[in-house]
Parts: sequence; structure tokens; C-alpha cells
Amino acid sequence: MIIVMKPTSTKEDLARVTQKIESVGLSTHLSVGKERTIVGVIGDKKIIANLEMNMMPGVEKTVRITEKYKLVSREFHPEDSVIDVAGVPIGGKNLVVMAGPCSVESTEQLEEAAEAVAKCGAKFLRGGAFKPRTSPYDFQGLAEQGLKMLRTAADHNGLKVVTEIVDKDDIDLIGTYADIYQVGARNMQNFQLLKALGKAKKPVMLKRGLSATISEWLNAAEYIAAGGNENIILCERGIRTYETFTRNTLDLSAVAAVKELSHLPIVVDPSHGTGRWEMVRPMARAAVAAGCDGLIIEVHPHPEVALSDGDQSLTPKNFKALMEEVRQFGALMGKTL
Ligand code: PEP
Ligand code: MN
Repeated sequence: MIIVMKPTSTKEDLARVTQKIESVGLSTHLSVGKERTIVGVIGDKKIIANLEMNMMPGVEKTVRITEKYKLVSREFHPEDSVIDVAGVPIGGKNLVVMAGPCSVESTEQLEEAAEAVAKCGAKFLRGGAFKPRTSPYDFQGLAEQGLKMLRTAADHNGLKVVTEIVDKDDIDLIGTYADIYQVGARNMQNFQLLKALGKAKKPVMLKRGLSATISEWLNAAEYIAAGGNENIILCERGIRTYETFTRNTLDLSAVAAVKELSHLPIVVDPSHGTGRWEMVRPMARAAVAAGCDGLIIEVHPHPEVALSDGDQSLTPKNFKALMEEVRQFGALMGKTL
């Protein structure tokens, strides 16, 4: 349940409301907006069902939430969240682009990619140092050596770093080098990892699972928020369907759905969403037109020799063309790159 306070309610009204909730063993979570304060009630469903708050001074209305997720819901937090990532805002009127290779392979590859994407206006360097590969015989990533390369190449070019975490024991290690922890599609419901990231000090980008519903995805985000880390960015990266022409089916309706259901920013990944580099640019335009807050794009200086995902990686030249279009589509949507 959430309790919406009147714009005219006083501090004393709020104190009485929270005291009443806490006196029956429930806990509260406040969302203080520009217009009004909303109190989220968390705890035993049966106790919540018997809670009568409508008559208390300062209360405008109470809303019973049918979905289990609360902290990430728009009902609880009506205004869009803007996540500050080391000084770079994600959400609101901003359009942010994260770009770089699928995997960190070498210093030369990464420096070349970082320079190319920064020049075109990307704000984040992406690249995996811990790779969740379908086959154990495929390249698994350079681990800490790769993280160091990422940080160095990003710093040389004024970029922030987003990189995947696959193991909760790596939170401190990755946090030393990265600005955002990326939870990959395969780990969306790794609840131990999500709980641990709830205690982490840096933002998390949560990719949608391979066959996750929007509700499952938002509940996964709730795990992170419930632990205390509300700096969450969602990422739509395509889902499994019967279609085989594309690697996944990029579900752009998820952008509109998330905007309705949640206050969290959403980024779209047309690279994994299609698996085909020729389709990345049109789908990036469509994602921006659908209202996303950013894009994550695979860019490799030489896609033909990439150790992973070469087929869906853009050359720097094609990335430049994408950015020019994305800038214009962003402007149409009232968003600045
Ligand atoms: C990636 O970003 O390289 C990646 C592995 O993505 P996903 O988890 O969406 O498959
Ligand atoms: Mn990839």
C-alpha cells in the first residue's frame, strides 16, 4: 500500500502516519516529491490489509498496489528518476549513449574504440571483462586486467565505465574500476547477486532476462532497491521468441510499458536485441522515438576479428552515422545527447 499525503499536510501529520504504521510492526519508505510526499508501507500483507489510514489528518488517499514491486513503481514515485552516475545524469531530459566492444580484448582495441565513441558524443565506455558465454570453450574475458584497461581508456577520453558483473564476490573489485555495474540478461534473476548489489555504493544497470516478463524484470529491480540501492537503470536487450532471423526480438513496447509502470530510466540495447549490425541503427532510432533514456551499442574498431559479437558490432564509421541520427531523434523527443 502507498499513502499519498496532501500537498498541505504538515510534518506532524507525516510523523503521526509513520508512527501508526510502525506501531503495528510494518516499515515505511518515504518518497518526497516536489508536489507531495508518498509513504510506502512495507511488510506483512495481512497486517497491511487491516490498516486504516484514510481518515488521518494530512492523508489525501491510500492506494493498494497489486504488483509486488513498490519502490520501483511509478505509483510510489510519480516523477521520473534521474540517476547521477559520477556526474553524468541518466533519465529525465537526457539521452545517454554507452558504447564500446562486447569484450575487452587488448589495450589497442579499447583505446581505439574509446576514442572513436567519445568523439561522437558517447558518455560511457562499455566492455565485458567477465563474459557470460554460452560455451565454456569461448573467450571468457580478461578479468581484472580488462577492468584496468577499461578504466584507463575511459579516463583518457573523458568517459565513464559500465561493465558486467557475474559474481557477487566481485562487487568490490569491479567497483574499484567501474561507474555502473551491469547485470546481464542471464543473471537477471540471480537473487543473491541482486541482494548484494542492493548494498553496493554504485548504480546498477539491470538487463531484462532472456525470457523475462516485464513484471519479473521490475521485481528483480525491486530486489536491488529493497536492499537500499535505488540507483537502478533498466535495459531492454531483446527477448526469446520463435523468430530466428534476429538473435532476439527487441521489445520496444517494453519502453512504453516501463514508462507507465516505473520511474526508473530505461536504456535500449539494439546490438543484442537484433544480433545484426545492419539493424542496429534503425532500431536505435526507433528506441529513441519510443522514449528511452539511452542506448548501449557495441562498437569495435575491427568487428571482423572481434572475440565476441562481431556480427552485431558497428565500425566507428557506422557508429558516427548512428549518433548523428540519434541526436536528431532525441531532439524530437525533447532529449539532449
Ligand atoms: C553484453 O552486454 O555483452 C551482454 C552479454 O549482454 P546480455 O546480458 O544482454 O546478453
Ligand atoms: Mn555482447
